[in-house]
Amino acid sequence: MADLLLLSPLTGWLAPLEETPDPVFAEKMLGDGVAIDPVGDTLHAPCAGLVIGLHHTRHAVSLRADNGAEILMHIGLETVALNGEGFTVHVSEGQRVVAGDRLIGFDLDRLARRARSLVTPIVVTNGEAFEIVGRRTGREVAVGEPIATLRAIGASTTAPAPEGERIERAIRVPLAHGIHARPAATISARAKAFAADISLGANGRSANARSPVALMALGVRCYDDVSISAIGPDAARAVEALATLILHEIDEPAEAEPVSAAPPPPAAVPASETLGRLTGVTAAPGLAIGVAARLIAAEVAVTTASRGAGAEDPALTDALAAVTTRIEAQTLAAPKAQRAILGAHLAFLEDPELVQTARDLIGQGASAGVAWKQAIGGYIELVRGVGDPRIAERVDDLADLERQVLLALSGETAAAAALPKGAILLAHDLLPSQLMDLDASRLAGICTAGGGPTSHVAILAASMNIPALVAVGPGVMTIADGATLILDADAGTLQVGPDQHALALAQTAVAANQNRRQAARARAHEDCRTADGARIEVLANLASLADANAAVAAGAEGCGLLRTEFLFLHRDRAPDEDEQAACYAAIGEALGERPLVIRTLDVGGDKAVDYLPIPPEENPALGLRGLRVSLWRPELLRAQLRAILRSAKANTRIMIPMVASLHEFSAVRAVLDQVRAELPGAPAVKLGVMVETPAAAMTADILCAEAEFVSIGTNDLAQYTLAMDRGNPAVAAEVDGLHPAVLRMIAKTVEGAKQHGRPVSVCGGLASDLAAAPILLGLGVTALSASPAIVPELKALIRTLTLSECAILAAEALSLPSAAAVRERSAARASSKSSLGRGAA
Ligand code: PEP
Ligand code: MG
Repeated sequence: MADLLLLSPLTGWLAPLEETPDPVFAEKMLGDGVAIDPVGDTLHAPCAGLVIGLHHTRHAVSLRADNGAEILMHIGLETVALNGEGFTVHVSEGQRVVAGDRLIGFDLDRLARRARSLVTPIVVTNGEAFEIVGRRTGREVAVGEPIATLRAIGASTTAPAPEGERIERAIRVPLAHGIHARPAATISARAKAFAADISLGANGRSANARSPVALMALGVRCYDDVSISAIGPDAARAVEALATLILHEIDEPAEAEPVSAAPPPPAAVPASETLGRLTGVTAAPGLAIGVAARLIAAEVAVTTASRGAGAEDPALTDALAAVTTRIEAQTLAAPKAQRAILGAHLAFLEDPELVQTARDLIGQGASAGVAWKQAIGGYIELVRGVGDPRIAERVDDLADLERQVLLALSGETAAAAALPKGAILLAHDLLPSQLMDLDASRLAGICTAGGGPTSHVAILAASMNIPALVAVGPGVMTIADGATLILDADAGTLQVGPDQHALALAQTAVAANQNRRQAARARAHEDCRTADGARIEVLANLASLADANAAVAAGAEGCGLLRTEFLFLHRDRAPDEDEQAACYAAIGEALGERPLVIRTLDVGGDKAVDYLPIPPEENPALGLRGLRVSLWRPELLRAQLRAILRSAKANTRIMIPMVASLHEFSAVRAVLDQVRAELPGAPAVKLGVMVETPAAAMTADILCAEAEFVSIGTNDLAQYTLAMDRGNPAVAAEVDGLHPAVLRMIAKTVEGAKQHGRPVSVCGGLASDLAAAPILLGLGVTALSASPAIVPELKALIRTLTLSECAILAAEALSLPSAAAVRERSAARASSKSSLGRGAA
């Protein structure tokens, strides 16, 4: 019989069952298991199965899993005495559930006041037939995280409980992207071939080598040290096999290994001879000419020996206070965007759990430095484990605080790098505080080897009007200090050691850019029409009320995409109907009479939500996400549609993400009709489809029989058309919506929509891309929903275009061989146009 993976039914602290303050459980009178001290308020199913017991006082429930294991979950201790008060049951006896389904909701505050303990035992009551393996207690878990495996006794292919000598080997991981999903899966598959218990240890944590999820959660990066350890009959062979696999067989070669953990800077080579042009991902737009200045941050020394809690605890307090004071002082003088980031840092520093974890570690004998590193390391693991690249980029903020507090403990101060005037800063990674410490008046641009376009550094750079390119790769650090560079963040390129001609062109372009931006801002609030009179709507993508205000100020003519996820992420329960209605109404209010397109919830895939535990998926981007989540959790969809209808104005529309087939769209339409019938007086809001899958693009003619408008999500359409994960830095730079394959999808969408007279807009990243706008208009798109900041320039550009020249350009683009060729063609159009403009002036 196959092993059964138990997923955490609660968010909270996972502890050994023996630590339950009740001998009935602690002495395993009911069976073996684990205990969770919850911080959430809903008990979820830890696996698929049948509800076989539901206590009449609603505080306990038993499931029979498909492999016959019977699992009792008992919310809190002595909670039977509450007589059902504060519990809400979501299932009934005999009902079949799947992993992650809600079982019982409870009022955490009431329980905390009234119950003897919140600790919730999870016990296998027919333990004689099952053994529990792979338990890793003593850590935080979130709903849906694996907590243990149930193995039928006698069914295991492995030898009896492993015994014998523990074998260990340390290796340095040479994989370019560390142990990410693919290596983790390969390692776990290899580990399963051995009987021994095998674990990998890194960064102060350990993971069962058979669990790919646990392996990924180790957060192992290229050149991290990892220890492979095994116990059992074939332990030695297992350790060797995994070491060989990781060292030699997984085909993801890294650059040359650094000599030490803190390597000296690579020998600088005359860059122009070797590098020429590097490409990366735009984090903040703009063009700059400057000189290379590499930032090589030294490791902060951490004292490992503890002087005892009596000295280490106050040392931590002082260090935290020093960093807090420093950030508070910075906040006073900082502009708005920086204040928000500094505020987030202060909130992290004040996080009681984080500080308490560090103090507990000090109590257990760690030095303040080690304790802080470990405590924040745990947080970093959690954040990284969320799986959302945007959230994962918050790791930078935590790493920043790790560094600042360690610096304060060491008594050192971060020496701000002395920059030459007009510096283009080159760094492996840049932390927000490092950027804020720099003399911005000397900084012309930023270019990092790693990083992502939504990190706080990217936001800061944009707020400081400094062009920034990220994910350029390690080559960036081999550029000689002082080399002349042209950073074209709009085009995603860094040109090293350009010749005189290229320099002269760039200088002219920098001056022209400044003039152009000023002129665009002056006409930002006027209507937008092409030079031959076609009306093109320029809308904005929003994810908050603040965005709505910024969009109106920037001249946006409405909102073409409200990403409602912002209301649902980073909290422990979904916003209720009232909260949603109030929020949508406030955004509608900020937009006045302008149109507002509200997208229904688009979570799943790379956007994880704790309280909506999607069972582990091998390929989340192809699993439950977008509309599929809404259909999987219809109560959420209903609440959202009700909230939208309650807040709707004449210009409100609803749009559905991630549609692949008409029947999915029709299912939402049916719920919308039902909800509308329940709300007398609710307006008839138009329902549109987002085209983000090749399936939707190819069948737009079918979808548009029902969908009343279409908006193309080019971010996802590009990732699914090109089969390249938009969140994977190894391929992100190639996920370009201007690839002719994606453009053909757009053309097909317009063709299908036209058959039913449906308008087509674009709301993906391509809509904010000035190189793409003429092509999109040429393909028949009539509205662009872009990031608010680019609206003035987008309108200015459209005013210079005629639909006929756009159509010619689009037709050419469709037959070019690559995105790069399309970009080149578009750039050629722009430059011939601007030289014509100069000639005419
Ligand atoms: C898109 O996929 O282009 C889009 C706009 O949706 P999101 O970026 O929110 O996935
Ligand atoms: Mg999308």
